[in-house]
Amino acid sequence: MSNMAPTEGLDGRKIVYDEDGKPCRSCNTLLDFKFATGKITSKMNSPIQTPTESKDNAMPMIPGHKTHAKVDPPDVEKLGRSSWDLLHSITARYPVKPTEQNKSEMKQFLTLFSHVYPCSWCARDFEKFIAKHAPKVNSRDELGRWMCEAHNEVNAKLMKEQFDCNLWDKRWKDGWDE
Ligand code: FAD
Repeated sequence: MSNMAPTEGLDGRKIVYDEDGKPCRSCNTLLDFKFATGKITSKMNSPIQTPTESKDNAMPMIPGHKTHAKVDPPDVEKLGRSSWDLLHSITARYPVKPTEQNKSEMKQFLTLFSHVYPCSWCARDFEKFIAKHAPKVNSRDELGRWMCEAHNEVNAKLMKEQFDCNLWDKRWKDGWDE
């Protein structure tokens, strides 16, 4: 990180730098990443497209490709949403009555996941959560609630609304009645 590098992004979030001093792609929002790398100086000149916008305004394709658009690498928010989709969906398919092997594999998976999660500061906090609150793997419902609580811990850190964990299975397994 050079002396000129900003410490705060355009939304007031702290900018996270990797060990080599470069802004971390998967630890910052795309807006802050572009700000920290000098590609934009304000929100006004940001050409960042949301997934909805990218469907409406045709995105340029990767040269030599017909269907693969020039989509940017995921930022901390896109990575988070995709990861929670995967984690809660895995939970929804976890056995109601898991075997000892199922339990052991799930514990190993969550531990390894917390080590390799690409947003380093998110990963550190998730590791700490697991160390303090061991994954509850004795049934699907137990694991679903544990995952919901893990997600709520991050929601609290980011000052987002808490999710009602009694509804975890409607959101991630059964769907809503109406
Ligand atoms: P998300 O929080 O991604 O939620 C997606 C959907 O899940 C919601 O729309 C809702 O329907 C549902 N949902 C919400 N809460 C719960 C819950 N408790 N249980 C079940 N379902 C729920 N970002 C950071 O900036 N800093 C961090 O330290 C950080 N740590 C993370 C750690 C992990 C392990 C993961 C997977 C992500 C982390 N993120 C972190 C990303 C962050 O949690 C969000 O994914 C991101 O900010 C986008 O938020 P969102 O509001 O779109 O919804």
